[in-house]
Amino acid sequence: KFQATGLETCFHDRHINPQIYAGLDGTNWRLKDYEARGGYQALKKILGKDGGAGLTQDQVIAEVKASGLRGRGGAGFPTGLKWSFMPRALPVQKYLVCNTDEGEPGTCKDRDIMRYNPHIVIEGMIIAAYAMGISVGYNYVHGEIFEVYERFEEALEEARAAGYLGNNILGSSHSFQLHAHHGFGAYICGEETALIESIEGKKGQPRFKPPFPASFGVYGKPTTINNTETFAAVPWIIRNGGQAYLECGKPNNGGTKIFSMVGDVERPGNYEIPMGTPFAKLLELAGGVKGGKKLKAVIPGGSSSPVLPADIMMACTMDYDSISKAGSMLGSGAVIVMDETRCMVKSLLRLSYFYAHESCGQCTPCREGTGWLFKMVERIEHGHGRPDDLALLDNVAENIMGRTICALGDAAAMPVRGMLKHFRDEFAHHIEHKTCKVPSYI
Ligand code: SF4
Repeated sequence: KFQATGLETCFHDRHINPQIYAGLDGTNWRLKDYEARGGYQALKKILGKDGGAGLTQDQVIAEVKASGLRGRGGAGFPTGLKWSFMPRALPVQKYLVCNTDEGEPGTCKDRDIMRYNPHIVIEGMIIAAYAMGISVGYNYVHGEIFEVYERFEEALEEARAAGYLGNNILGSSHSFQLHAHHGFGAYICGEETALIESIEGKKGQPRFKPPFPASFGVYGKPTTINNTETFAAVPWIIRNGGQAYLECGKPNNGGTKIFSMVGDVERPGNYEIPMGTPFAKLLELAGGVKGGKKLKAVIPGGSSSPVLPADIMMACTMDYDSISKAGSMLGSGAVIVMDETRCMVKSLLRLSYFYAHESCGQCTPCREGTGWLFKMVERIEHGHGRPDDLALLDNVAENIMGRTICALGDAAAMPVRGMLKHFRDEFAHHIEHKTCKVPSYI
């Protein structure tokens, strides 16, 4: 149930305000199709190749800042601000990286952007490279998505042949070499410094920070990393203006966002909606809870975001501020819907297994703690729970939080804390009665 299930059902007619998916059917991803939809017009605009005066690097960054675009990979950091950290004047090689290492359980948006519209990512990256004075970039694609990687390679060839990539793009002084890099499927390589290590050909393990990638990234050089969906938003922002993008959403939560609706919904898939849309509307777009059952809980932002019970979730709007006020995170936008028959112990068991399996093993609280969490939840699920297990789960989760090199430790601990906060009685029932509290699940 925690696998993405909507990959084949994602079509534009399910999306409102479609900026990224508009008119896409899986066959019209090639350069000529993209250009017919207005593709590469934003690039021509900044380079002054559309008959206009062009935009300076500062003007491009100012537009992105004005758009309110925040990183769509999960952290939600303001993109324009991140771009302004790049030391443009420093006379060293600088790198741009697109993070398509999408591996968060439930998340399936970036692979669909790449599948349906790869050139939008390429154009977004060329514009970002221009704004930050970067001449070399990589798109790091998750190792388990082969078809998407191959399609991106083809799209790169098309862009190079058309003069959108390479030296002196469209006759300008801007040069940018972009390469695709296929990972090997490790979840941890989505962490930006592990991703950098992997690009360098090393084992994908996170680095201590600081130094941050902005000053010490790929090959020790200044590097900016953004998520695929973040880059995909950039051409629209440049064409229509940052203010127009901001107004698609709400203050501090500009634009639209793609949500992967997975789990117990009638029509799982990716839905692009304006930030600030009520969750109830998103659920309706996805056809409601499967089989007409009652909504029990929702994990609103990928598996590492704490679960929220139905009543709290139904009062939320889909934006960073509302979800975090409710006690969770918008994260990568994977919305895992659980109906009334779902057992929370079994659900947490699946999540705990994932994090224990994906820990890179570099730091003790994460390496040992994720394994302990999994073992405890496993024994509770299988009727061998001990009376003090809930306190022990609390204790282990608390001692992982904030004590690890990267955020995977926190990501493993937060689902545990969320489950125990809202569904403690189910865990206690499992321990006391050695069976599930959810009748239909027995
Ligand atoms: Fe590795 Fe976990 Fe430490 Fe991250 S928190 S560096 S995944 S052991």
